Amino acid sequence: MHEGSQITLKVNKYERNPIASEECIAKYGTNCRACGMNFKKNYGDIGEGFIHVHHIKPLNEIKEDCKVNPETDLIPVCPNCHAMLHRKYEGRYLSIEELKKLLKSINA
Ligand SMILES: [Zn+2]
Ligand SMILES: [Zn+2]
Repeated sequence: MHEGSQITLKVNKYERNPIASEECIAKYGTNCRACGMNFKKNYGDIGEGFIHVHHIKPLNEIKEDCKVNPETDLIPVCPNCHAMLHRKYEGRYLSIEELKKLLKSINA
């Protein structure tokens, strides 16, 4: 493997907002809302409280000055699902529900 190579996930500024992320996690917990994985369950204590937070609204709908609502705009997802949500599929991004369905249909 190429040394120093890494996959960078481009997230928007709301996903980097630690306060909004914490509020989102407090509300929804640390299970991935797409695949259901839980880091504590899979990795033990080191995974405690770890999860990514995804902003639901498409980037082009976000105004610079609009406030993020951690309950309606953010959703906890694992880094794998998060990466897939930021990847275009047939010209657009999947919603969390679509990704969930996709995972179910593949792993059924
Ligand atoms: Zn997941
Ligand atoms: Zn995201």
